Amino acid sequence: MSRAAVAKDVLASQARALKMPGLVRVFESLARQAREEHWSYEEYLHEVLAAEQTSRNDSAVRHRLHEAHFPETKTLDTFDFGAVEGISAAQIGELARGEYIARAENVILAGPIGTGKTHLAIALGVEAARQKRRVLFVRAADLVRTLVEARDARELGRLQRKMQAVELLVCDELGFVPFDRTGGELLFNVLTERYEHGSVIVTTNLAFAEWVKVLGGDEKLCTALLDRLAHHATVITTKGKSYRMRRRSEAQTPAHPPVAVAKPARPQ
Ligand code: ADP
Ligand code: MG
Repeated sequence: MSRAAVAKDVLASQARALKMPGLVRVFESLARQAREEHWSYEEYLHEVLAAEQTSRNDSAVRHRLHEAHFPETKTLDTFDFGAVEGISAAQIGELARGEYIARAENVILAGPIGTGKTHLAIALGVEAARQKRRVLFVRAADLVRTLVEARDARELGRLQRKMQAVELLVCDELGFVPFDRTGGELLFNVLTERYEHGSVIVTTNLAFAEWVKVLGGDEKLCTALLDRLAHHATVITTKGKSYRMRRRSEAQTPAHPPVAVAKPARPQ
């Protein structure tokens, strides 16, 4: 084995021991380029470390996206702002920057079914994860069930601490399934403990006046929850018909009458 080949092997195993996978992938090809283009040692070192930095960043983002448990991937670039009422692209763009999370503020997305609430909630969660923030997506009904189970197993404290460690909690579909009093109280605790500590995105098909129905009919609890949740919150109300239904009916009835096929010009 040549001296150069030994050096390469040693370098690769050193980089692995130092947990620098990005460096392992690029150091040889960059060394070739450096020789051809007469880079200084410092330039070469900089390029190699930049590749390692990019690789670490990418894997941190992948990890954040994985631990967020999004049910599917929805992003802002696939959201058609022209197709919905009540949502401003500028406002969503501002939220995508994630400053509300640094301020522990909330977002409430309210409106009828199929108007893009979950899509936007996931997309904002994805943006936050890309900024390497800790995000957790849960459906309200699943969250309540998990809380009840944790309480029964005397593990409520542990679960609550886990949820507190998350910077953005996305609570989807509040209002689809009503909770009993205990469920309502457990959800209330999770959401209010986040007040001014961590952000929440809530999606709901209910108007604020109807929230009491899902929270076990407890007016006081409901007022206290809304008070805290909406105190520092951007409230976005979606309107109109379901996006999917509309797409379906558009596909069946074309918006314009079919254009008559031009007849081939008759030979003169
Ligand atoms: P909601 O949570 O309000 O009931 P969803 O976000 O689940 O609605 O939207 C239903 C489906 O329609 C999803 O597949 C979503 O990606 C799609 N959708 C809704 N609104 C839009 C939109 N404006 N642009 C692109 N896709 C949309
Ligand atoms: Mg939804």
